[in-house]
Order: sequence, then structure tokens, then C-alpha cells
Amino acid sequence: MNTGRRSISIVGATGSIGTQCLDIVQRHTDKLRVVALAANRNVDLLVKQARAFGPDVVAIADRSYTRALRSGLEGTGIRVLEGDEGVCVCATLPKADIVLGAASGIAGLKSVLAALEAGKVLALANKETLVAAGDLAMRTARLHKAKIIPVDSEHAAVFQCLEDSIRSVEKVILTASGGPFHKSDRTALDKVTPQQALKHPNWSMGPKVTIDSATMMNKGLEVIEAYWLFGLREDQIEVVVHPQSIVHSMVLFEDGSLKAQLSLPDMRLPIQYALSYPDRWSLSEGRIDWTRPQSLTFAPPDLEKFPCLRLAREALDAGGNAPAVLNAANEAAVDLFIKERLGLMDIPRMVEEALGKLAGASCDTYEEILLVDQAARHYVFVASKRNTFTL
Ligand code: MG
Repeated sequence: MNTGRRSISIVGATGSIGTQCLDIVQRHTDKLRVVALAANRNVDLLVKQARAFGPDVVAIADRSYTRALRSGLEGTGIRVLEGDEGVCVCATLPKADIVLGAASGIAGLKSVLAALEAGKVLALANKETLVAAGDLAMRTARLHKAKIIPVDSEHAAVFQCLEDSIRSVEKVILTASGGPFHKSDRTALDKVTPQQALKHPNWSMGPKVTIDSATMMNKGLEVIEAYWLFGLREDQIEVVVHPQSIVHSMVLFEDGSLKAQLSLPDMRLPIQYALSYPDRWSLSEGRIDWTRPQSLTFAPPDLEKFPCLRLAREALDAGGNAPAVLNAANEAAVDLFIKERLGLMDIPRMVEEALGKLAGASCDTYEEILLVDQAARHYVFVASKRNTFTL
């Protein structure tokens, strides 16, 4: 092994976070080395990445692409694995110092838990795993002395503000851009198309998180994520709309001092910090230009227009299986919205209905979480066939 270089394994290599992580690796080849790459099904990009970065192992979750992956990497000597087990091998590789958990949605849960069980440093970009399985994930991390470093920009900001002084924290204030519709009328939201919702004003992200931003479910999921990551009470986590996305979040300490982390919106910064922590490395572009006038504005969120934020807090308060129901119903409804089979405002309706029907049981193990996840998806799928939607 090369001395001084950190070996990283990237789960979700071909997505938005994964590709930006590889951009960081390319800038710091003296400090970072890729030992494993795993992806869901984007085999062409995975082959390109593997040829460029030369990991020891690659894995593709969808087995129907294994043959294409093998032939694409013929002669390279790179080990090719498949299925969930193959992805988990990447997430637990003994050589990996840091595992980036960047798969999208609940599909990332198994590999995230595997990395925690292996006692890894986990750079976590997959918030859904903490929403659906926060208690299980944190218990697993404690038991196996794994460390979680948040990649989600808000939580990365909180992490940078904290510097281990969590005991004197009064509140954490998560900032929200408000998404593309924060100025739209409530009634206009019924007629939004996927194309409009997929255009985020500040951030370039994958489709799931972009739609979550448009409904503000993203911020709801992030409240739950912060609850587990930082061990706070729900009432210690505030949300404020800050359309410029310059302040990425803030920490209010007991003495009234407020610390914030500011930077231009670029996910490469939180990704890189998770890899460089506790050091900081150079990232040359993206500076706020203080020679120009700047205005940073803050306003409370409109909970009537964005009910997802309220639903997420209610699910967190209810505990048990409620956050897993919320997460799965939301993933299913977002998917149907992208396929133009539900309207944007049907997403909170579906989530609220699913919570009403399915929440209220305990949910402690991986198997129970998967069952709840499937039940909530099934509920949304069946309910979406009813013809009473805003489309
Ligand atoms: Mg975020």
C-alpha cells in the first residue's frame, strides 16, 4: 500500500456524488487512491471509471450487466463482482480506509450497514438509510466503532461548525434553498411538470434529491438525518429557507454564539472534506466574490405549501416504523411523479396516507425495515391507480 494515500471505496460511483468524488480523487492523486468502485447499472460509465482509476475491485448491483462489465474490463486484472453481495464486498474491503456511501435511496442500506459492521470510516451521502434505519445504523456504528462523516452539505456544515463541542449546542439550523417553487403559489404547484421540478436553481444533483428539494421533503429527511447524526432532540433542529444556498447550515451554542459554514454551492467541497477530515485540502475554484454586493436572506418555511416538512417531523416524533414508511412512500411517489403518473402535490398526499395506514408498529431489524419499505411502496403503487389525482 502507498504510504500516506487514503484508499477509498466508492459505492454509487456513477451517480452525481460518485462522479464528483472521482473528480476530487483526480485532483489529489498524491493523497487519494480508489480501491473499489460499485454501481447499480450504468455499466458504460463504470467501465470508463475503472479503466481510468484502476481499482482492485468493481461491482455492479444489477446482474444483467455483469457480462458487459467483464468484457469491458478484460485484460485489466480488475476483479469483477456482481449483485448486492458484490457491492457489499466493495463496502467492506479490508484495504479501504474510507467508504463513500453514495448510492441513491433505500437501495444503499445494505452496503451502508455492511460498511458500519466492518468498522469503516463511512463518508455518508445516502440520507435515506438514516431516515429508514437511523437507530439500527447508529447502533451498528457504535458496536463496531465505525465513524460516520456526513457528506450531505447541510450536515457537513454542522459537522464543520461543531468541532466536537456537541455538548454545548442549543440548536442546529439547517438551511433550505426552498427549491424551484418557493415563490410559486400553492395552487400552481398542482400543475408542475417533472421537467420544471428537475431544474434546481442552485444545485446540480441526481433526480431523486432534486424532486425532494422541490417538495421540501429533502429538508424533512435531513431533519431526521441530523437527529441521528448529531444525537439531538427533534426540537433542537430548525429549518430556515435561504434561497442563495451560501450558508450551508448553522449551529447555535448555549451562549448565544452562532457558527455558520459558507461557500458557493458545490458538492465537491463536502465530499472532499469527508475524505480529507480532519485536514483541509485545496479546492481552487468557487470563491464568494466580496468585491460585489451580496445579499443573504433567511425566512421560515411555509409548512402549508410544503407539507412534506411537517410529515417528516411527525414521522420522527412517532418513531418506530414511521420514518421508514415516510421514506419508502416518498421514494415510490417521486418515482411515479417522474413517470408523470402522479402530480407533485400527490407526493405529500401519498406519504400522509401511507403513514396513516402503516405507521404505528416497531421496526428494529434490517428485515423488518425491508418489509415496511415494501409495504409502503406497494400501498403507494395501488393508491396511485385511483383516479383522483391532480394530473
Ligand atoms: Mg442536503
